[in-house]
Amino acid sequence: MPHTALRQPSLWIAPVVTGCVYFVVASLALMLSRFEGGLAFIWCANAFLMAQLLTSRVAHWPRAVIACGVASAAATAWVGMGPAAAVPMAAINIAESLIVAVMCRWFVIDRLVIGAIRPLIVFVVSLCGVANIVAGLAAALVASALTSVSFWPSFVQWYTGHVLGGLTCAPILIMAFQGEFRRWMDEASSRAKLEAVLLLGLFALTTVHVFFWARYPLLFAPLLPLMLIAFRVGHMGSAAAVILLAAIGGGATMAGIGPLTWVVGSPGERIQFFQFYLALSFLLCMPVAVELAARKRLFQMLQQSEARYRAMAEYSGDVVLNISIDGVIQYASLSAAEQIGCAPELLLGQAAANLVDPQDRAVVIATHRRALEQPGTAQKVEFRPLVTTDGLEWCEMVSRAMIDERGLPSGVVSMIRDMSRHKARQRALQQVAARDSLTGADSRRAFLDKLDHEIVRAASGARSSLLLIDIDHFKSVNDRYGHGAGDRVLSAFVERLRPGLRAGDSIGRLGGEEFAILLLDSDIDRSSMMCERLRAILDEPIAVGASLAISVTFSAGLVALDGASDRSTLLEAADKALYRAKHSGRNCLRLAA
Ligand code: GH3
Ligand code: MG
Ligand code: MG
Repeated sequence: MPHTALRQPSLWIAPVVTGCVYFVVASLALMLSRFEGGLAFIWCANAFLMAQLLTSRVAHWPRAVIACGVASAAATAWVGMGPAAAVPMAAINIAESLIVAVMCRWFVIDRLVIGAIRPLIVFVVSLCGVANIVAGLAAALVASALTSVSFWPSFVQWYTGHVLGGLTCAPILIMAFQGEFRRWMDEASSRAKLEAVLLLGLFALTTVHVFFWARYPLLFAPLLPLMLIAFRVGHMGSAAAVILLAAIGGGATMAGIGPLTWVVGSPGERIQFFQFYLALSFLLCMPVAVELAARKRLFQMLQQSEARYRAMAEYSGDVVLNISIDGVIQYASLSAAEQIGCAPELLLGQAAANLVDPQDRAVVIATHRRALEQPGTAQKVEFRPLVTTDGLEWCEMVSRAMIDERGLPSGVVSMIRDMSRHKARQRALQQVAARDSLTGADSRRAFLDKLDHEIVRAASGARSSLLLIDIDHFKSVNDRYGHGAGDRVLSAFVERLRPGLRAGDSIGRLGGEEFAILLLDSDIDRSSMMCERLRAILDEPIAVGASLAISVTFSAGLVALDGASDRSTLLEAADKALYRAKHSGRNCLRLAA
């Protein structure tokens, strides 16, 4: 919704002009409509002040308020209830206008007073439900004290005159002050202008007929062209029509011609009746016009976003699917043919889950449901497609719910992209990270993952063992033969041990010259034997280069995976056993306590 720019009235001239206009409007109302000597029956002056306040910055309000306060006091003193009522009536008029202006500013954040339903409702409620009840009671008190008209008739006079005057005049003046008429003249096409002129002409003719020529009270007749104007020309046209209605109908009624002369009652009551008719006409057409304008804006926004979405769907490499709530494909972008090897038209009406490998279907369906349950957020899932064309092995799908006019999810838009290369790269990286680069043993991380997995298996009865080994006096190997030779020993050490292990067993380098071996389905006795076999394998010195062979031994600690201990408890127990082996002279195995 556009943020309405506020006017910047000039410093001195503006309040003077405002005061003069207020004075003229108020004086005319007092001269023409103080039929019973109390309050006026017509009051549009406050609508003028409200429109001024609502279209200018709060900083400019004091000048307008003072100018109109002085004008109101002068008008009351000169043509109203006299000097005694001047100050209280001015204060009450100002209070009414300020209440409406403050409430509208407070509750309508974007300052758009006319042009949307919510601000219109705030305006009507503040004018009719708050400001004029407060101001009406105060004014009736003053009027009943100073004139012969009693309290409640005075209240009714004030309330109807001010409410009807405010309802009909303020929105039109606000539109005028905000330059909406001028903007419409600049922006509307000549065809739209011609249509507006013809419809307003038709409306004017109907109104003239009703108020000047008709022999019957055809007050409902102008409503038809008025609604036509609301639909075709919008709120600007409706405002212009209400002005025409006020001028033609008001002129006739004041002159004592037209259907309102048949209303039995005083001239004041007739004027009130006419104002009521005018306000009703306004309230009939304005919300319709405003709502239509809002829908038009929404429609334009939707068209733009639809165009953007189509461009994305058709020209991006990703496959875009619209999927119904129950998982049926309703739209597939052209890229489906290239990406998943299936013509889009063949996908329509198919269950989207059919595109997914059965292993991943449950998780994809769960993601679809989550997207529907949380409409504001996008849900992501990776899956394997059922048909793997051109090396398409992994896809990523991002799904987001589509919302209908009630705010409920009506389906899901899913974007599917080929993740095969990304996945292959990810796998390669994982493989690199899972290996120790020097020895080819499992990395610490990968080994501990395997250990965790085995601990879970042990909890359900598997009997495996963890062997922790540390090369003895390795520092002296480095010291004697150099670090490079030490490295070669480490790598050959692992190579030498591998044949002593079974297919499912794993060896990992936990750090430095410390290794761990996971012996699957092997109890302590069997594992001890295997450890001794490994020690025997190392009897032969390790050849490092052509002429150098180095003998190494290791100490070891052994612990059984008992199904109850966690990873750190097991590692600690094996470490303590290893420590004891070191202290028992090295090159030996110790069992965990
Ligand atoms: P102990 O019998 O008590 O285990 O004696 P040790 O010398 O093996 O133990 P210590 O922990 O004092 O020394 C370990 C040595 O292993 C020290 C370090 O330089 C060496 N080392 C650790 N990682 C590497 C490596 O990647 N390459 C080489 N060449 N040496 C390493
Ligand atoms: Mg060592
Ligand atoms: Mg060590």
